[in-house]
Amino acid sequence: MTAARSFAGSSLVDAHGRVVRDLRVSVTPRCNFRCTYCDPMGMGAHEPPGTLLAEHFDVILRAAAGLGMESVRFTGGEPLLRKDLPELIAMAHAAFETVGEAGRQGATDQAPPAAHAPRDADIAITTNASGLAKRLPDLLGAGLRRVNISLDAVDPEVFRLATGGGDIARVWAGIEAVEAAGLTPLKLNAVVVRGVNHSQVAALAALTRDKPYHVRFIEYMHLDNAAFGTYDARFVAGSEIRAAVEAAHGDLESVPTDPSAPARLFRVPGWQGNVGFINPVSEPFCSACSRMRVTSDGMLRPCLLNDREFDLKPALLAADPVRAVQEVFVLAAGRKVASGLTAPVERPRTMVAIGG
Ligand code: SAM
Repeated sequence: MTAARSFAGSSLVDAHGRVVRDLRVSVTPRCNFRCTYCDPMGMGAHEPPGTLLAEHFDVILRAAAGLGMESVRFTGGEPLLRKDLPELIAMAHAAFETVGEAGRQGATDQAPPAAHAPRDADIAITTNASGLAKRLPDLLGAGLRRVNISLDAVDPEVFRLATGGGDIARVWAGIEAVEAAGLTPLKLNAVVVRGVNHSQVAALAALTRDKPYHVRFIEYMHLDNAAFGTYDARFVAGSEIRAAVEAAHGDLESVPTDPSAPARLFRVPGWQGNVGFINPVSEPFCSACSRMRVTSDGMLRPCLLNDREFDLKPALLAADPVRAVQEVFVLAAGRKVASGLTAPVERPRTMVAIGG
């Protein structure tokens, strides 16, 4: 390790020339839902030992901000199960705004100025929203800007089946609270699984008729360690999902989309919202990947679909932990694979313990 190395003003670039901009931080592996495709073993029922404390996340967030990363999305497990989520959101803001300040000062005596400063921190959460209505005021107060909500069905019974007992009324209360707060765009994500919720595709797309939602259909990835035959039987390709939307609502028209974003966006002509397709299995978008993940037990995971992880815990104990964590980020970026493996292989962690 090079203790004297400065990361100020730099961007984190991986082994394949992709700039690492977006950090997904899983704050707990616990979840109050049991989605079949995410947590089939019910592992999210308990908090295992080793979940990082807020002070550890603070170091990681400051390290990421100093490396020029631009967005943080807190996930899990279910991030709302973490009581100190507002504190974590506030920490993310403080981390990114501090770097912005440093960049502004540096720009006066350095040429060129730091490329990533100043900037407005993009802080978001991905949640099942079942506890969101109650928590939202505190989260907004801490600086939450955007919310992605998982919604796998419109029919309450199908929703209950897909989520292992989830109450859709509580989720709608969360969605309405986010709408009332004016956080846009509100992205509603559905993982489509044959035999579970594939019958809901047309109804989910119909939510975009009168509301400016982005309803995004996600291809089911083999991150649940489903048996090979089971996974193949349950997988629904994005093209089939789109065909189901068009069969019900007519041809979709394309909506201009950020090429680095995972979703390709469309709309039913005349409708208010968008329908998106995230097809990591049938149309991998690894070449545009800008993400890295931190698991709740302190492992840095450069690629969702590759099991190699880098342990941040020793760096968190270093004399200069921010710098030490940055060194691990740089090491991990240098080892990031060009593309992940979507084939059904046995994985050490299921999605609930990685963080989506
Ligand atoms: N509990 C939160 C929620 O429900 O959104 C956050 C965690 S969840 C792991 C994050 C995202 O991962 C959700 O949109 C979920 O649908 C997605 N996900 C989980 N397992 C998946 C799988 N096997 N394939 C594709 N997406 C998956």
